[in-house]
Amino acid sequence: MSKVIVITGASSGIGEATAKLLAKDGHQIVLGARREPKLAAIAQDIRSEGGKAVYNVTDVTKVEQVEALADLAIKTYGKIDVWLNNAGIMPQSQLIQKKISDWDAMIDINIKGTLYGIGAALPYMAQRESGHFIDISSVAGHVAHSGGAVYSATKWAVLAISEALRQEVADKGIRVTVISPGAVKTGLLGSVTDEGVRSGMEKFYDEYAIPVERVASTIKQAIDLPEDSSWNEVVIRPTRQML
Ligand code: NDP
Repeated sequence: MSKVIVITGASSGIGEATAKLLAKDGHQIVLGARREPKLAAIAQDIRSEGGKAVYNVTDVTKVEQVEALADLAIKTYGKIDVWLNNAGIMPQSQLIQKKISDWDAMIDINIKGTLYGIGAALPYMAQRESGHFIDISSVAGHVAHSGGAVYSATKWAVLAISEALRQEVADKGIRVTVISPGAVKTGLLGSVTDEGVRSGMEKFYDEYAIPVERVASTIKQAIDLPEDSSWNEVVIRPTRQML
């Protein structure tokens, strides 16, 4: 069955790959992110392959823009079946460095962006007693390490919010899935502002990271599961990644 799927952070990496994969399956895709040229090119790619996609420039830290993305889905396709809270950044650093603007940005994008997405889509899903939230956490939402305090805290928050949401909406037949990837080859390291941390992570990613299609196909499988069943939590790591 063709679904209406809204994806935040759809301009690159996991969001882009998932949009393209799901569009090939015949789903109707609503793309949101800040970089308009990227969104326009991805929507065009999807349409040129016979798929359906629209986009809105969406900064997930701006509640009115997230609401507008939900409205676009409703106006264009009439419903929201799946909302993928994927937008995120990972500027890791030691706490002693007091990179407060990085802390604020991670909290605003990774936590508040996820909440705004839930807030925008939940009324529509509750009305139809149908829907599916897929929230992207991280293995860093399960394991904390030096340098990753704030990123881990934000991804842990995604787990907590998603589990509470799951309990809140279970009796309405709304599904909630958290996907926690390990190292995946994307542009995410571009958000790391500390040179030393970035070069260390680049070495790690060069050695271990898996292609973005692995996560896209995990998201597709979560969506394809019969509606009476949910994957509530999936951790997908490179096999050789220890932590
Ligand atoms: P990318 O950097 O390739 O993608 C991140 C996406 O988030 C981009 O499309 C970016 O678009 C978007 N984004 C960033 N800030 C905002 C904002 N304020 N409003 C809207 N969109 C925003 O990295 P990934 O694909 O790897 O990241 C996707 C998710 O996966 C993130 O939540 C990340 O934490 C998570 N993850 C990634 C892992 C990895 O190893 N790659 C591992 C574990 C989790 P734009 O700049 O155009 O707004």
